[in-house]
Amino acid sequence: MSVDRRDFLKIAGISALLGLGGKAALELLAPGEVEAKLESLPLTQAKRWAMVIDMANMDEAIMDRCIEACHHVHNVPNMGDKKHAIFWIWKEEYEHAFPGQEHEYIGEKFHHRPFLLLCNHCTNPPCVRVCPTKATFQREDGVVMMDQHRCIGCRFCMAGCPYGVRSFNWLDPRKAPKELNPNFPTNPDYPTRSIGVVEKCTYCDERLAKGQLPACVEAANEIKKDVMVFGDLADPDSNVRTVLRKHYTIRRKPELGTSPNLYFIV
Ligand code: SF4
Ligand code: SF4
Repeated sequence: MSVDRRDFLKIAGISALLGLGGKAALELLAPGEVEAKLESLPLTQAKRWAMVIDMANMDEAIMDRCIEACHHVHNVPNMGDKKHAIFWIWKEEYEHAFPGQEHEYIGEKFHHRPFLLLCNHCTNPPCVRVCPTKATFQREDGVVMMDQHRCIGCRFCMAGCPYGVRSFNWLDPRKAPKELNPNFPTNPDYPTRSIGVVEKCTYCDERLAKGQLPACVEAANEIKKDVMVFGDLADPDSNVRTVLRKHYTIRRKPELGTSPNLYFIV
């Protein structure tokens, strides 16, 4: 089997999952299994991570499963009321998600139709520019990160983000109502946050590091294959580039010049 750079990176992902060296993974897995695992894993490295959500094939049950999966793995608690809510991924009606892109003759199927929203991991992120402590920063692969240890709670990033994807911990999330969060923290392997810091989606950086797909993408695809696609926008042969070539897609507020790396098939 010939192994090119892309496959090598994927094998590194399989190896990490199995706790093996890359060569050992190749020797242990039968040829068919290697190909199957290569197919099921994303690259562990990319020049520009991007996501495509196929809203034509998405339904509310899948969206709910995505939200549940993300909030479960990242210890996002239910704070009990809207004012103090913390969310990394949520549902929003089309007219609020895409203001300016709706008009009175738009297809009935879009009216009051919820869309799945999360951080757009913008190529030109205004949130990063306004953060005085560099608590929010952009990695070379485009992922916009959030370091709660450096966050001083000034909320400039929240004011700078034109998409409302960031949440502020007005209350101590570790003291979230027990009756609403009986198993909190839901993932002991992921850190909990403290009062007075901002948080948001990080494209599951901790999972990408292990060669795994973001939790929402994995959860969605378990229900309906390819309803969410994640990959390297800089690679013309990647899954996201193939999907973007095939389908008409929209992004949120493209006129702002932030260049979101989250696309929606409509
Ligand atoms: S969507 Fe908002 S928080 Fe996310 S990168 Fe863009 S400006 Fe920053
Ligand atoms: S990419 Fe990861 S962190 Fe972002 S919404 Fe999906 S599951 Fe949550």
